[in-house]
Amino acid sequence: MNENIVKRNELLAKKVIAGLESRNMTGYYAANKEEALKKALELIPEGSSVTMGGAMSAHEIGLVEAVKNGNYNFIDRDKAEDKRAAMLAAYDADVFLVSANAMTEDGVIVNIDGNSNRVSAIAQGPKKVLFIVGMNKICDDVDGAMKRARNVAAPINAQRFGLNTPCAKTGSCMNCKSPDTICCQFLITRFSRHKDRIHVILVNDNLGF
Ligand code: SF4
Repeated sequence: MNENIVKRNELLAKKVIAGLESRNMTGYYAANKEEALKKALELIPEGSSVTMGGAMSAHEIGLVEAVKNGNYNFIDRDKAEDKRAAMLAAYDADVFLVSANAMTEDGVIVNIDGNSNRVSAIAQGPKKVLFIVGMNKICDDVDGAMKRARNVAAPINAQRFGLNTPCAKTGSCMNCKSPDTICCQFLITRFSRHKDRIHVILVNDNLGF
């Protein structure tokens, strides 16, 4: 990454972290994927039950692999025979790994969801929610974050899962009501009532989409 972009991201991350603190959430800066993985593992005590929701960024820093191979109880919804039971177990997990579709410079987190297990677990349930967020996800404000979620993240996710939505074909949001829509629920996390529940590691890299 260009050194000026790195420097700009470093400065911007300070602003995002201050915004998170003002919202009773905790932010951390990681200069690269390796630092992000180290910090994430520091935040997950050994023996914890861990699950995840659509966390491509957690995969990209090696966190999912590390948890699966480490001394943790990883609840793997993809492999579970009873997916509903695994989904319900996720709400009682010690740690929920996730990414954001977008974030604002002042620390608001934006996610959209089709099945809605991800946004519901962010809102409540797991004792700790650990976001891994690349600096490519940071937007000026909630409006910009919503636009990013619907015009960048959603079309790519729709293509990734082979969904029949207009955005999968056009690359941008057509505000559809398609049966396959992944825009069933929008979650804007602007404050956490529970201190020490929501943690965000900002990674100075392009992660996820
Ligand atoms: S509303 Fe429909 S077209 Fe728009 S991003 Fe969501 S799934 Fe795609």
